[in-house]
Amino acid sequence: MNSQDPRRRIPRTDTLLASPVATAAVERLGSAVVRRLVTSAQDRARRGEIEPDRVPAVLADSLQQVRATQLRPVLNATGVVIHTNLGRAPLSPAAIDAVQTAAGYVDIELDLASGTRSKRGLAARAALLACCRSAEEALVVNNGAAALVLATTALAAGREIVVSRGELIEIGAGFRLPDLIASTGARLHEVGTTNRTHLQDYEDAIGPDNGVILKVHPSNFRVDGFTSAVSVAQLSELAARRGVPLVVDLGSGLLRPDPLIPDEPDAATTLGAGADVITASGDKLLGGPQAGIILGRKEIVDRMAKHPLARAVRADKLALAALEATLTGADAPASRALHADPDRLKERAERLAAAVGGEVVAHDGRVGGGGAPGVPLPGWAVSLPAGVASALRTGDPAVLPRVHGGHCLIDLRCIPEADDARLTDAVGAALGRPQPAEEVVRDERPS
Ligand SMILES: *Cc1c(COP(=O)(O)O)cnc(C)c1O
Repeated sequence: MNSQDPRRRIPRTDTLLASPVATAAVERLGSAVVRRLVTSAQDRARRGEIEPDRVPAVLADSLQQVRATQLRPVLNATGVVIHTNLGRAPLSPAAIDAVQTAAGYVDIELDLASGTRSKRGLAARAALLACCRSAEEALVVNNGAAALVLATTALAAGREIVVSRGELIEIGAGFRLPDLIASTGARLHEVGTTNRTHLQDYEDAIGPDNGVILKVHPSNFRVDGFTSAVSVAQLSELAARRGVPLVVDLGSGLLRPDPLIPDEPDAATTLGAGADVITASGDKLLGGPQAGIILGRKEIVDRMAKHPLARAVRADKLALAALEATLTGADAPASRALHADPDRLKERAERLAAAVGGEVVAHDGRVGGGGAPGVPLPGWAVSLPAGVASALRTGDPAVLPRVHGGHCLIDLRCIPEADDARLTDAVGAALGRPQPAEEVVRDERPS
């Protein structure tokens, strides 16, 4: 490097680190992240991408944009409301506010008036019971799978669980219910066949060694044709007569019936029909944080709460706060997306197409997350060439479209209207970038 070399003008690392923006960023993000950005700004100047005197400004800009997590926000343009790969339900503004409050020291297990210890998660419990009056007691654990494990362990470890062969499901990413239940030390007593199970099958299976009758909502699949299943009401009568609890794993976490998805079971109706306990996820149709919701008869829920395993699967304070706020606050984003007005979706799609091109096409959204399989949510999408999908995913903000039938489909259902301008900019920018001749086209949407 000679004395004329412009690279000599690149500011030194310690000078850059000593700038007020950098010292403030070290407080917020730690020094490793800041050093990485310093090096990256210097490298850009070394490669001649920016003028050496612009290094401080470029650094300040990147320090402003960098976040403490490598997780990147994504605009969900798939039309799938509960998208497991995108973290399922987005939190409501109220829930985000609650998470922020709970991030510090909070009275999660303390009665401030008396200064003595209190029960953990009382507010979330009260909010659940207020939303589901057919439940006597509520318990929140880490997730839906944990709720089911706790139920089977506390009520049937070393004993038998009677369950229909039509409900022994794999939910996703190799998560198989029978394996999960077997891991708790309970034995599965399978009854019926894949397509038909009768009350008599359950009746014959129940013996002195039976701990639980389990009914599982088959979530992500449906059996059509020559089928029959036993209703909760029928099972509950049998369970009461034979003195075994009836546990129903609902999965998606609707607390009340939703006329839009009439076949999706909900907590209130299921408990009303006589289930002793239901289990469900907090981040599916309930629209809250990851959590396992347990609702039902006090005596049974208390047995679960007192089991040592309950401590290992307890919900964290952030989830408890977010769940409470989801239940007491305005409609969660997942519920808004589910109930989005198709005419409004069409207007928004037309506005996007007017700005960036493409064709507005009818496009059905999905509930996702195992909810209401096969039920279309009528709406609209902007159809673009499939090749633009990768530029959309890797752009800023990242946009996840649906690639289907050789098209890149942008469905606005799950994008808050306030983000429409950002979406338009992101799509415009992606269309302006070079596109691969052929994108490997995959369509992994749930049916
Ligand atoms: C999703 C689901 C689960 C698992 O719940 P997580 O919250 O993902 O742990 C269990 N049972 C059913 C029926 C489900 O749909």
